[in-house]
Amino acid sequence: MFLSNIRIVLVRPTHPGNVGATARAMKNMSLHHLYLVAPEDFPGADATDRAAGADDVLENAVICASLDEALKDCHLVIGTSARQRRIEWPSLAPESCARRLVEGAQQGPVALLFGQERTGLLNAELDRCHFVVTIPTDRNYSSLNLACAVQILAYEIHRVGLSELSANQADTREGRPVSDEDMQGLYRHMEEVLQLIGFLDPANPRRLMRRLMRLFNRVVLDHNEMNILRGILTAVQQHREKLDKNNQE
Ligand code: SAH
Repeated sequence: MFLSNIRIVLVRPTHPGNVGATARAMKNMSLHHLYLVAPEDFPGADATDRAAGADDVLENAVICASLDEALKDCHLVIGTSARQRRIEWPSLAPESCARRLVEGAQQGPVALLFGQERTGLLNAELDRCHFVVTIPTDRNYSSLNLACAVQILAYEIHRVGLSELSANQADTREGRPVSDEDMQGLYRHMEEVLQLIGFLDPANPRRLMRRLMRLFNRVVLDHNEMNILRGILTAVQQHREKLDKNNQE
């Protein structure tokens, strides 16, 4: 079923109890694909105890060394955060987040990322996200327990999933969705070309690329559109090579 394309990714979780409670929260809401990026202490008895019957979700959990590995084939990535960030990422309410994931899952794998208990998701990890979702809370006490945050968003996904299943709304993109791996390739190519034409200052490259990533995450490209952009970048490189050659002659 389409929910099987939705993966819950815990990034560097430290408490095995939270991993177990996450598995339980997921299984209650028909989600089965748990990815753990560099977990500090897993597997273990604490995780299994807290899973309470969702051991199958734990046993099938995919352990990844890096976020790249966990997101490789995903065409939509949504991060979660308890707080407002300095440079804001496009944000979604829990229900819209669930709707995006459920709709996206009809085309291929999508991911919902949760951060480490103490630090949350780092900026570089949020850069990988098309959107960020914050569960509304008391203004002065906004940080939920990791597994509780998973539970609330898993509930929304399940709820929206049941109603979307009948409505079956389609994504408006025409071409095949673009994987995270391909987006990273586009960004590397773009960075190279922007440096080549002197638009990007290598001494201060982060800010521009982050803004461009935000722009493309907001648009959500399809494969044909990405190929056009890669083609333009290659044409710029070839044009520059031709100019350099003419100058030498
Ligand atoms: N100080 C961290 C808190 C981490 S709590 C921060 O500000 O992000 C651990 C994880 O639980 C978070 O990374 C996020 O994935 C999730 N979480 C906690 N509270 C949340 C909230 N209000 N909305 C969305 N996710 C939340």
